[in-house]
Amino acid sequence: MRVVVDRGKCIGAGQCVYVAPDVFDQDDDGLVILLKEDVIDDGDTADVQQAEVLCPARAIVRGGK
Ligand code: SF4
Repeated sequence: MRVVVDRGKCIGAGQCVYVAPDVFDQDDDGLVILLKEDVIDDGDTADVQQAEVLCPARAIVRGGK
C-alpha cells in the first residue's frame, strides 16, 4: 500500500502521528512528514487507515499496492 500526504492541506493536528507513529511524523512547524511511502506491515496498514479517517484536513491518501 502506498501512502501520500498533502502537506499543503495539513493543518498540523497531529492525529496521524498519534495513531501511526511508525509512518508519520511532524516537522518543527507541526506539518506532517511521511516516514514511509510504502507500508507493508499489516499493523501499520491498519494504523494508516485510521489516520486517514481521523485527519481533519483530508491530507492523507492511501493508494494501491
Ligand atoms: S492528521 Fe492530517 S492535519 Fe493532522 S498532522 Fe496529520 S496530516 Fe496533518
